[in-house]
Formats: sequence, structure tokens, C-alpha cells
Amino acid sequence: MLSSGSMGQDDHIADGNPPLPIARTLIWLGCAGAGLGSMRLVQLRPEWVERYYSRGVYPPVRRTLSWISGHLSFSLAEALILMLAAYLLWSVGKVVVSMARGRTRWWRALASAGLLLVRVSSAVLIAFLLLWGLNHARQPLSVSAKLPEVADKRSALKLLVGSLAQDLMVDPRERGGGAPGFAVFSATGDPDPRIRTALHALTPEVPSMEGEEPALRRIGAWPIFARLGISGIFSPFTGEPHFNGGTPACQWPFEALHEIAHQRGFAREDEANFLAWWLCISSGNEHYRYSGNLAALSLALGAIWRDDPEFAADFVDSLPGHVRSDMRAVQEFWQRYQSPVRAVGSKLNDAYLKSQGQSHGVRSYGRMLDLMLSFQARGR
Ligand SMILES: [Zn+2]
Repeated sequence: MLSSGSMGQDDHIADGNPPLPIARTLIWLGCAGAGLGSMRLVQLRPEWVERYYSRGVYPPVRRTLSWISGHLSFSLAEALILMLAAYLLWSVGKVVVSMARGRTRWWRALASAGLLLVRVSSAVLIAFLLLWGLNHARQPLSVSAKLPEVADKRSALKLLVGSLAQDLMVDPRERGGGAPGFAVFSATGDPDPRIRTALHALTPEVPSMEGEEPALRRIGAWPIFARLGISGIFSPFTGEPHFNGGTPACQWPFEALHEIAHQRGFAREDEANFLAWWLCISSGNEHYRYSGNLAALSLALGAIWRDDPEFAADFVDSLPGHVRSDMRAVQEFWQRYQSPVRAVGSKLNDAYLKSQGQSHGVRSYGRMLDLMLSFQARGR
């Protein structure tokens, strides 16, 4: 029945459309706002987050997601993104058809699409915070692993590059023997057994490393991610660490273990980098050890370069040929995928990290070195 009300009030009834879900959208928006507010609050109590979330609620969540994703031979995250895109396309398509038939007005279609976007984004944000995001507020690793402060960082850094270079003297590829080399998957497509060994070896020092095998993935569309400057991504919704398998093989163990450190609940970039190196050297495998030390040496030399370029240049010249050629291969890879979108990718990542309370943004990648220096001071 048509209402006798004015056009403005009962427009939805007059054109046969259901009312716009404004109240429902506001509830979703309110929940998302409350989630972000709680994030700010819990950042004041990192020891509580560590105890009740990172070591309490999160491990069973993590194990359940790994169990579900681990049963699949493809990336559940990539499948979900495709499904979400299909759902959004279908919703837009429905509105366009309705508009073409004259059943829906343009302003209504626009409002409806906007409200849908707000609801979907709010739901994604809430799921993100509950399933993993709260780990951004956990206790710093330097506190929980009891790593000491280093007073003279400049000389300690030079000492560090010296010991890393020492470890890289022998090229593991020349020794033959290690058939799987830098591989992070076994012949059956499961994570390489060396990953489990590394996680197990580090558990006494970092208890969050214990437990299940991660549902590790290689990014299908890696060239797109390479153009964005992304070497890996962890999907908190499916518990899947993804690494960029397009990079030179010597990078794979370090990159994969960086994403696995995220999966173990270490959200901060600098901590994930440090843990990736620590896992590599704990694996007891020379290829993994080489991969970790090579990545750490590149980061450490980058930091020295800003301070003392002459020392850094001389140091690089003194490195063995295989180390210099691996460093060049990594550099050339990223140069090959250089693109204007990378600046956008970097800005987006920076904004994301800042929104999660990492005030240094992408510059916090450099703080991995502070952890390494503390580790060195403690004695390996
Ligand atoms: Zn990361």
C-alpha cells in the first residue's frame, strides 16, 4: 500500500525500495570506534596485553586459524579477497541494474554503496583487532626477552658487522650437501622442516614461538607486491604468513621467518626482523643462517652508511665475492620493480604502522639493529 506521507519521508516506500540501513551502519561504526579507542587504552598497559592477549587469548586463535588454513593447498586469504571483491561487484551490479530499470534513484544508490562500504570496513577492522591487531600493543621484545641497553651503539654496530661478515665467509652453496638450499617449502609443499626446527630451538627464549606449523604461502601475484615494495604480508584473518617468492632465493628463509614471527604474535616490524634473524641462526642450518646474516648485514651496513660512508664502502669492498654478488642481486631485484606506486605503498604502510601506535612508522625497521646490539652485548 502506498503511504499518504510526503515524498521526502516515505520516499523508500514510494519507490518500492527498503529503508536505508542507517541504524545498522551506525552500530557497526560505533563498534569500530570502540575498538580503536580500546586499542589506545590497552597501549597504556603493555604488560596486560602480553599476559592476557598475546600469551592468553591469541595462541588458541592462532592455532585454530593455522589448523583451518593448513588443510588447504591454496591461500585462503587470496580466496577471501576474491570472494569479497565478487560480493562488492555483485552488490554494485544489483544497484546499477535497479537504477537502469528506474527503480532506484542515483542518490539512493550512492548512499547505499557508501553505507555498505562503512559496514564492511568496520567489520574488517574489528576482526583485525580481535584476531591479531592487539599484538601491536604487547610488551616490547627487549623487555620480555630481557635484552640489555647498549651504551656505545656506534662502536657496537661496527663490531656487529664484523661478526656478521665473519659468519658469511663460507658460501653454503659451494659446500653442496644441503639439497633443499634456501627453500622454505618441502617437496610436498609443506613448510620446510628447518622452519619447525628453528621455531622449536627458539621456544625456550621466546615462548610465543612454540606450537603448530604455520600455513606458509608464497604470494601468487608477487610482481604486484614487488612493485609496491612489499617483501611479504601476514593475513591476520586466516593466520597465513605470505612471503614474496620472486626475490632472490638467499632472501627466502629470512622473509618467510619474518612473516612467521608476525604469525607468532609479534606485530612490530623491527621485532619481526630481529626474530627472523634469530630464527635463522637458531635453525642449525647453514643456508638459513646465511640468509639471516645476509639480511642483517645489509640492514646494519645501511645504518653505518648514513654515519660513516667511508667505513661502509671499505667494508663492502672487503666482503667475499659471493656476499657482494648476493647483495647486488637483491638490490637489482628491487630496482627492477621500482615504480611510482612504491612511494604510495610505502606511505600507506607508514600510515598503517602509525595508526597501530608504531610512532616511527616505516623508520622503525631500523630499530631491529638496537635489538641485535643488545643481543650481541648479552653474548650469543
Ligand atoms: Zn612485516
